[in-house]
Amino acid sequence: MEQTENKVGRFGEFGGQYIPETLMNEIKQLEKNYEFYKNDKEFNDELDTLLREYASRPSLLYYAEKMTKDLGGAKIYFKREDLNHTGSHKINNVLGQVLMAKKCGKTRVIAETGAGQHGVATATAAALLGLECEIYMGRVDTERQALNVYRMKLLGASVHPVDSGTATLKDAVNEAFKEWTRRIDDTMYIIGSTMGPHPFPTIVRDFQSVISKEARQQILEKEGRLPDVVMACVGGGSNAMGTFYNFINDKEVRLIGCEAAGKGIDTDLYAATIAKGEIGVFHGMKSLFCQDEEGQISPVYSISAGLDYPGIGPEHAYLNATKRAEYVSITDDEAVDAFEYIARQEGIICAIESAHAVAEVIKLAPTMSKDQIIVCCLSGRGDKDVAAIARYRGVDLHE
Ligand SMILES: *Cc1c(COP(=O)(O)O)cnc(C)c1O
Repeated sequence: MEQTENKVGRFGEFGGQYIPETLMNEIKQLEKNYEFYKNDKEFNDELDTLLREYASRPSLLYYAEKMTKDLGGAKIYFKREDLNHTGSHKINNVLGQVLMAKKCGKTRVIAETGAGQHGVATATAAALLGLECEIYMGRVDTERQALNVYRMKLLGASVHPVDSGTATLKDAVNEAFKEWTRRIDDTMYIIGSTMGPHPFPTIVRDFQSVISKEARQQILEKEGRLPDVVMACVGGGSNAMGTFYNFINDKEVRLIGCEAAGKGIDTDLYAATIAKGEIGVFHGMKSLFCQDEEGQISPVYSISAGLDYPGIGPEHAYLNATKRAEYVSITDDEAVDAFEYIARQEGIICAIESAHAVAEVIKLAPTMSKDQIIVCCLSGRGDKDVAAIARYRGVDLHE
């Protein structure tokens, strides 16, 4: 596909707009629309009402007292995005993007999905706001996540299985971009993470930054000071960017992103882009990607479907390059242990994605002192993962 390189929308050398000519006008229009709506009082009031009355924001900042005592170090707080309507942070972004699409006169939204979480969230927002919704999903994923496919259909969306490439998430993104070029007049592409060409990484980050806007205020109310460490799991990077954003200028706050190391970063089965990726251009952006020697995007693996994307959002690549944020890799084993630990300690069954951040809390908290504070984002709830964890432990659920 012919690519046009545009230097706008950069985070250092990362980001940009590597897109086919046919999309350039539409992307420029999206930039203009976003510049307008992000400062439009009516839009922001409407979005605030949706977040409050429909998605149930603000989410709680919960002090995990038992875990804190058991680990014997820093005070641990969880930002409970798992309590949002539809069970994760994804609703924050889709309500913003779908509302904006509607205001711009679009009647149809499309989205990619891997495990189905973003597809379900987009179908939810489209049902609520009365837009047509079509979801692109790798055929392999439609088979692995049949329940989420049916959920999207219940919500009135149609689901298109994608057969190209490895028939997984990256191929679904390719197909959604292609479909968008075919129907830019009535259609908006609702991207699921802080990725893609500018202005998507900025739009998604801004809609997700409500997480740190609330968390910063909540921790100041509860503790009278900022946390020492703020952390989150990283797939494409949207819950982490949302959790980091309003702390970036507080230089004394350490920011830690937790990537999926799968079976281990010295095996072939991982999705740890910061640890293992190299600079490349893919899906409209310059960032870090897991690639082979010829620069082809490598297949990636994690027990957590929400973290197994071969790239990372450009702003994370920048925060890593400038050392403002640190990134660690967490294996499947460590994440599953953390998933079980937080369930037993706190009575919270969190998403296996979020358990990657919990695993780092378990490692880090005991090395810190009792007057220090960690804020960790629980990006989602874990109902969707219970069967997979049982399988991982060799438990037969007689399903
Ligand atoms: C999708 C998803 C993620 C990963 O996406 P990011 O854009 O990196 O936040 C993490 N946690 C949950 C619960 C998800 O559904």
